[in-house]
Amino acid sequence: MAQVFDIAVFMGDGIGPEVMVPTLDLLQRLNGSQANFSLRFSEHPAGAGHYREHGVSLPAESLAAAREADAILLSAMGDPTVRFEDGTEISPQIELRQELDLYVGLRPVRVRPGYPTPLNLPADKTIDFVLLRESTEGLFWSRGRGQVSDEDARETLVVTRAMSEKLFEQAFRIAAQRRVTGQGPGRVTCVDKANVFRAFAFFRRIFDETAASHAGIQAESAYVDAVALWMVQRPWEFDVLVTENMFGDILSDLGAGLMGGLGLAPSADIGDEHAVFQPCHGSAPDIAGQGVANPIAMILSAAMMLDWLGRTRDCAEIVSAAERLSGAVDRVMADGTVRTPDLGGSHATADVAAAVASALDADRP
Ligand code: ATP
Repeated sequence: MAQVFDIAVFMGDGIGPEVMVPTLDLLQRLNGSQANFSLRFSEHPAGAGHYREHGVSLPAESLAAAREADAILLSAMGDPTVRFEDGTEISPQIELRQELDLYVGLRPVRVRPGYPTPLNLPADKTIDFVLLRESTEGLFWSRGRGQVSDEDARETLVVTRAMSEKLFEQAFRIAAQRRVTGQGPGRVTCVDKANVFRAFAFFRRIFDETAASHAGIQAESAYVDAVALWMVQRPWEFDVLVTENMFGDILSDLGAGLMGGLGLAPSADIGDEHAVFQPCHGSAPDIAGQGVANPIAMILSAAMMLDWLGRTRDCAEIVSAAERLSGAVDRVMADGTVRTPDLGGSHATADVAAAVASALDADRP
């Protein structure tokens, strides 16, 4: 009997639907080709467009459907011209993180052959690390709670022991998994600003306490400003980086820059029960409607979803489907002939999706 997985799909705003539709098409191809699992998709409204029409950014029914689903596939959301009354942008992805307790933002930074990294990498070096961003507290805790008067403005950064312990446990678990698969040496770097802020000295202390029960994995700490420098100067030395929400927000875009652009950077927001998979990029209103958005970040996010489903639900076939999908992307990128304009090419979203589909077909088990 095939294992059935319910996937809640959110199309998003701007280029969101343009990259989601071809991704669903690729997932449907994998669906048909593997006997032991079946993906069932349901689409739900949310986002800036929905807020403009109905005054709600994430309807209660959509949240309930997300809660019920085995995984949530979310495209880019938001529109700078549609805002809440306090001036902040519509971001159901942040609401989902808080509602579903998705405390780990996973941002893999991998430079594969054909990726237009702006770095001149030494021939014997590759970039392959993962950034874990705490996603429910830190400075983002203050979202909607900031105090603003005519004279000053204040936002509060929150670090709790309970959340930090869970976050660091995940970082050590991922480092151990990467070591087993040969992807990394088994090293976790805590990224903070413990030399200036008490909250970060607390964060580092909890990191050190957690590290003590993972003797097999190397643990080190570094200041965020130094890490930003090293991400450019010697990024091949990183394995697993773990940090606070705001620092992670910024460093993950730097990571996307190392890969060659936001159009290539996938992500996942993971909790104990639920997980959302979404490209790092926003809704890119400047290119929306032109059919030229790069779908690779969305496709790789879908591959991360398959991998997570397979590992958490003990289904080896879906893990191999994840490998097939990211392998197909690798071959299209390494080949380099079909590229969207953000990567210097002149192809459309549909051309890249078609190239990934043929690479998948060529690799049919
Ligand atoms: P947000 O704050 O919602 O994350 P952002 O300010 O980071 O959004 P994006 O919407 O991600 O901005 O766009 C930043 C730039 O990157 C824009 O010029 C956009 O066109 C480009 N971009 C983002 N995603 C893609 C993509 N998938 N394909 C091509 N270009 C993209």
